[in-house]
Amino acid sequence: MSSQVSIIMYHYVRDLTATRYPNIKGLELSAFRNQIDYFKRFYHFVTVAECIAALRGEVELPKNSVLLTFDDAILDHYTNVFPLLDENGIQGCFFPPARAILENEMLDIHKIHFILAVTSDPDKMLTEVFQFMDEYRSEKSLPDNDYYKTNFLKPMRFDHKYIGLIKKLLQRELPKELRTKIVNELFSKYVSVDERAFCEELYMSVDQIKALQRNGMYIGSHCHDHVWLNSVDPQEQRRQIELSLEFLHTVGAPTKDWVMCYPHGGYDDSVINILRENDCAMGLAVQVGIANLSQQNAFILRRLDTNDIPKEPGAKANEWTQKVLV
Ligand SMILES: [Zn+2]
Repeated sequence: MSSQVSIIMYHYVRDLTATRYPNIKGLELSAFRNQIDYFKRFYHFVTVAECIAALRGEVELPKNSVLLTFDDAILDHYTNVFPLLDENGIQGCFFPPARAILENEMLDIHKIHFILAVTSDPDKMLTEVFQFMDEYRSEKSLPDNDYYKTNFLKPMRFDHKYIGLIKKLLQRELPKELRTKIVNELFSKYVSVDERAFCEELYMSVDQIKALQRNGMYIGSHCHDHVWLNSVDPQEQRRQIELSLEFLHTVGAPTKDWVMCYPHGGYDDSVINILRENDCAMGLAVQVGIANLSQQNAFILRRLDTNDIPKEPGAKANEWTQKVLV
């Protein structure tokens, strides 16, 4: 027996034009309201507990079930998302990157988002990144820039291809130390020299996360350091998972039958084994699709992006919705 659920992935949800960074890749708050209305018309909201029961074959969920997930503990989730979910009796699932919240330290991935939000010319920004790489090419034994273009420049679902390449270089492909250096230089040049203050405006606090938990929202793990779990050794995988469980304990979230949301969607067999040993019930990935709740798929559940859901008021059922309409 298996059940389907459309798991929707959200990051920034804000009144973009009223912020200092209107070009950040986020969802307009009005569009989020329209999506809630859309789900109310075509879907059946479910909770994490219902999904876990379905995984175990204890219940069968309607095909048009939907679960809303919010990654990275962005403050938007507390100020904009939570009131709307609460008003509508919907359980949202929130996945905080533990260390960023505990130590007030901004994740590189978010620095990159804001750098790109103030970039009007992707070509110029890519040139600037390549110039940094030129400086360190011999010291770090980097291949030439054409190598990166040939291997990583490809059409993206929601980004300009140069933006996609910049993200690839700065999030993953360059050596960790070098990409952190480049990201920090670009962040202080284009966005802010006061990272700490920026961080306080960007993320939820521990108390805000606790408040979500107390009010029926679900809080799950998004690792300690927001690492690609499939790029570190098993010992480090275990440490990341255990530290994030301590965080869940701190905020009063469940540490038995809990949910892992893989940072950057990175996982491997070793990660899944460690999750099973630690009473994790399911793992959320970023492969695009409708999740199939079965024991076999429990740790590789697909998600849809908010951009896969219509944003205009009164929208008709789109292709993803038509697949699950009963
Ligand atoms: Zn994340």
